[in-house]
Amino acid sequence: MTRSVNFPVFILAVALSLSSSLLAQHSDDPKPIRREVYEGGKIYDISHRYTPEIPAWESSEGLGKTFLRLAASMKNGSFANVSEMKLSVHSGTHVDAPGHFWDNYYDAGFDTDSLDLQVLNGPALLVDVPRDKNITAEVMESLHIQRGVRRVLFRTSNTDKRLMFKKEFDSSFAGFMTDGAKWLVENTDIKLIGLDYLSFAAFEESPATHRVILKGRDIIPVEALKLDGVEVGTYSLHCLPLRLVGAEGAPTRCILIK
Ligand SMILES: [Zn+2]
Repeated sequence: MTRSVNFPVFILAVALSLSSSLLAQHSDDPKPIRREVYEGGKIYDISHRYTPEIPAWESSEGLGKTFLRLAASMKNGSFANVSEMKLSVHSGTHVDAPGHFWDNYYDAGFDTDSLDLQVLNGPALLVDVPRDKNITAEVMESLHIQRGVRRVLFRTSNTDKRLMFKKEFDSSFAGFMTDGAKWLVENTDIKLIGLDYLSFAAFEESPATHRVILKGRDIIPVEALKLDGVEVGTYSLHCLPLRLVGAEGAPTRCILIK
């Protein structure tokens, strides 16, 4: 706003333009636009939509219809529509905090509000891992990720199989094995790991693998990322989890900018 515009006039102009755009929308019978990619590839939305059909941990029913409900409805006389949600904090695209697998960290308050936004935002490498293999020490070594790389998104066969688009939980998903996690901690500078199913750790070794990654409280796992349709390479990653004080996980929106 320039100094010559006086404030009430500015407010009136905004109000008029808003009301005219609302009127225009009504007359056009508008449809919402839902995007995966913006501006011909500049922004990739790598978050999954929260729908009743997305898979949930060890469930055959998915997230289910009850996670979101219209608590106040204009059709029932309320002056506004107001929805409520109830869901595990590890649903859909989300982050884990150190308290997820370390009870002492949970008690000490290492929750999602304590996560470092400088780790969650910055240059990130998207890599393809060998298919139909879990991420072992050997696989980690074969990826030749250079020292200094701080954020890596690992695309696995989970993306090829579209597991996040299947309602039924699939425990055969690909993820980190404990030795792969140890190798990462000991031999890389990676502080953010992104995977493409509900857990970054393979099902059979999930607790031990989580503990290895979360022990130092300096690595943030981002789980259930939507990595299809994005080319391998370096991007600017932006993840902004909800500030859930006391929670060891939080839904997050993540985008890549080329
Ligand atoms: Zn989680």
